[in-house]
Amino acid sequence: MKGVDTIKLTNRQEEILQIVKSNGPITGKQIADKLSLTRAALRPDLAILTMAGNLDARPRVGYFFNEDREMVLQAKKFVQQQVANFKAHPIVIQKSTSVYDAIVQLFLEDVGTLYAIDENGYLAGVISRKDLLRTAIGNKNLENLPVSVIMTRMPNIIMIKPEETLLEAANKMIINHIDSLPVVREVDQMPHTYLVIGRITKTTITRAYLEISEQ
Ligand code: ADP
Repeated sequence: MKGVDTIKLTNRQEEILQIVKSNGPITGKQIADKLSLTRAALRPDLAILTMAGNLDARPRVGYFFNEDREMVLQAKKFVQQQVANFKAHPIVIQKSTSVYDAIVQLFLEDVGTLYAIDENGYLAGVISRKDLLRTAIGNKNLENLPVSVIMTRMPNIIMIKPEETLLEAANKMIINHIDSLPVVREVDQMPHTYLVIGRITKTTITRAYLEISEQ
């Protein structure tokens, strides 16, 4: 495949791309007519667009839009986006919160995962839907059971930093079979302490993909 680095297109080149996108395959003459230009005046632009890989040309058929290249460009643009630009608001509770209150919180906030923090405000645990369901099946006294007993806790929490990319976030979620990642800022290395500043979920990734493809 040709290189997929974007070059800055002129307005006329953008216009040509749109024409070919909607009408392709289309001959050079037909494009020129639509733009009220001569075929000769159009030739340099068509050469650039073909060389850059935006358009493909087939003898006796005409020009058509290179969908493959467009998809690779879109995917590239997508995975290079920084987590910081797409992170959602995290729902954070104290680790002493009861499982009962955590379930209420999950419904009120309409999220799938809650993050628990310690007395200092640092990330201490992750509580997912299944953690809560599992606990609810086996326990009667959910009001007196703190989430700290049932949560996935440090140092087993998979995290992401705001400057990392959506590709790294997607990889971490898929490899670890989890639905979300806390976005964190490291406060101290010894001991490892993190502040939760956001969350990335599979929905966030899907929404980001839609936004970028619509651009
Ligand atoms: P659900 O329980 O709704 O399917 P997940 O698939 O995200 O949600 O969670 C599965 C398990 O992984 C749960 O026990 C949860 O505590 C744990 N978990 C979820 N997110 C993380 C994370 N970022 N780091 C470590 N463990 C996690």
